[in-house]
Amino acid sequence: MRRVDAGLCSPGSHVSEREHVVCDIGPSHADPDRALLQAERDLLWADNEDDIQVAAERLVRRLGGRLVTATDPAAHHALPIDLRFAAGPPLLPVAPPASAALARLEHDLPLFVEDARRAVTLIGQRGRLKEDAAADPLTGLANRRILNRALARVRAEDSVVVLDLDFFKTINDAQGHSGGDQVLAAFGRLLTDQVRAADLAARYGGEEFVVVQRSPAEPSALCHRLRREWARRTSVPVTFSAGWAVVGVGESGAAALARADQALYTAKATGRDRAVGAEEEAPQP
Ligand code: GH3
Ligand code: MG
Ligand code: MG
Repeated sequence: MRRVDAGLCSPGSHVSEREHVVCDIGPSHADPDRALLQAERDLLWADNEDDIQVAAERLVRRLGGRLVTATDPAAHHALPIDLRFAAGPPLLPVAPPASAALARLEHDLPLFVEDARRAVTLIGQRGRLKEDAAADPLTGLANRRILNRALARVRAEDSVVVLDLDFFKTINDAQGHSGGDQVLAAFGRLLTDQVRAADLAARYGGEEFVVVQRSPAEPSALCHRLRREWARRTSVPVTFSAGWAVVGVGESGAAALARADQALYTAKATGRDRAVGAEEEAPQP
């Protein structure tokens, strides 16, 4: 959520949801009704629990109070309303005894807390829906749609790695389809553990996976690490082959993927259980 001073907001100005601009209503002696209205608007646009926490703290301040933890000496005359929405110990509102501020806090906070809790629930649901839409159910990796989005955003020096389990049909034949599924799920966990947070590991389909590595990318080192770790972890005699390509200047992610796929084909054709870089295949001038 991005904020600007009230003076910068014009009635006709267009803002997208991602760039929502919250017009600040001004100093702390602002009209209490407007303070509540502003806090409710903050909830409407909150992206996460931290945003909700900020809204709560701002509202209390605007109404003339402040928040304290239960161990604060002032907490003995705090209102019994927990205003902690992000991680941490409870936060209680305080204001001078018998003050107008205390009356406003007592009057406004219960409504705000009810709406804030609802906002927390909705944010959680939204997050889960997003995860569900992004994940391949068997492996927990990103699905093809998310992969395509990542491929559309690659830049030069990123890399694309395609991995394919070797002779996977024989695993299904020997262990049944559900045994094969377990191997795929284990391979998904391996990728999840081994790729960096900035990179993306996706199930491309069947027993084929793609990793998009952000620059500085080291696809050869990644393949080496994956091979070593997979051999250490798996109890099933299955290897994998990989092909990788470093994205060239002006090259699309789809083109880099096609080169990586071609390199994978070479890895398969030359014996499997190996990684081949597309650059290694480039014809010498
Ligand atoms: P290669 O080394 O040439 O890649 O041989 P392969 O047997 O791995 O390749 P092929 O493409 O001939 O067969 C892939 C097999 O993967 C066939 C299919 O039954 C299996 N497979 C695809 N998706 C799934 C899945 O979701 N679960 C299971 N258990 N098997 C799957
Ligand atoms: Mg295969
Ligand atoms: Mg395959």
